[in-house]
Parts: sequence; C-alpha cells; structure tokens
Amino acid sequence: MILSVGFDKPIPAADRMQLKPTTRLTRRVKTGVLSVVQFNCDRAMETQANVRTISITQSVRLAIEDHALESRPAECCGLLSGRDSIITDIHPLRNDADEPETKYFATPEDLIAATRRMREAGQSLLGVYHTHPRTPAYPSASDVEMAFYPEAFYFIISLEPSVEVRAFKIEGSKIEEVEIQPA
Ligand SMILES: [Zn+2]
Repeated sequence: MILSVGFDKPIPAADRMQLKPTTRLTRRVKTGVLSVVQFNCDRAMETQANVRTISITQSVRLAIEDHALESRPAECCGLLSGRDSIITDIHPLRNDADEPETKYFATPEDLIAATRRMREAGQSLLGVYHTHPRTPAYPSASDVEMAFYPEAFYFIISLEPSVEVRAFKIEGSKIEEVEIQPA
C-alpha cells in the first residue's frame, strides 16, 4: 500500500527521525519544503502482523512433496492459495521450461486458470512453489530474478539427500527465510 501525505511546511528533523523505524521513505518530492511524501508502509504493517511465519495444511504440504517426487528429475512448480495467511489449496502447474531439469516456467494460460480458481474460491495467492531436484532448498539467482510476487511466499523443495521444504520472502534482491507452521 502506498500512502501519500501532503505537508505544507518542512517536517522538523526530529519528526523525520521518528518516521524511519516504521516507514520507509521511498520517494521525496522537493527538498527543503516537503510537499508530497510517499512512503511504503507494507513492510511496517507486515512486521506487526508477524509474517515471519506461514501456515500450511498437512494435506497441501504432502501434495507439494508428491508433485515434486512425481516430477523428478524435472523441476515441478505450482501456486498455493488460502485465506488469512493459511495455505489450504494447491494449484499444480505444468513446467513448460526448455530445460525443466534446472528451470521452471508456467504458461500464462495455466497461471490465468489457477488465478481464476482462486478468485472463484474467494482465496488469495499466498505461495509459489518449485523443486530443486539436485540442489539445496535455497533461492537461486534466477529464482530471485523471477520472483514477480513480492507478497507471496516462495516455497522450495529439495529432494536430495532427502526431501526438505523451506519458504522464503523475496523482495528485490533480498531473501528472507520464513518459518513454515503446520495449520
Ligand atoms: Zn529454483
């Protein structure tokens, strides 16, 4: 959420300091007299809402692992949805990448169909998952580049030496691990 606030006089230095801990100044128009300030409150609100954890039902977690194992040696991918930060539904997608053993790519058609199913169920996109069949469950450089949904949790499943599921927030180039809780 971007909030716009108008000020008709310069903000005292002390007040500017107070803005910093909870809001991130992303854009300042005019120096000296601050006529319009836009700051992004997402991060502050998320911190208060404790988004360092994501809940997922046991059946979805098992379904992700099944999809990962069935697709081996190719990577698999899909979307996760639910309400109130609880993932209750899985939407497996076809991996249409040229090299599906090291990359994943979902077609726009599949993404649109999955998004429609979520909307019809009154759910939100909460997660994106894919496999690392032979590498650790940590975002690769291309995973970071392709992380188009900063609001979603990125689940990565590694299969070797054993099945491991981890979740991350990826915003820009920042990667932050998130705790997965059983719902
Ligand atoms: Zn990856």
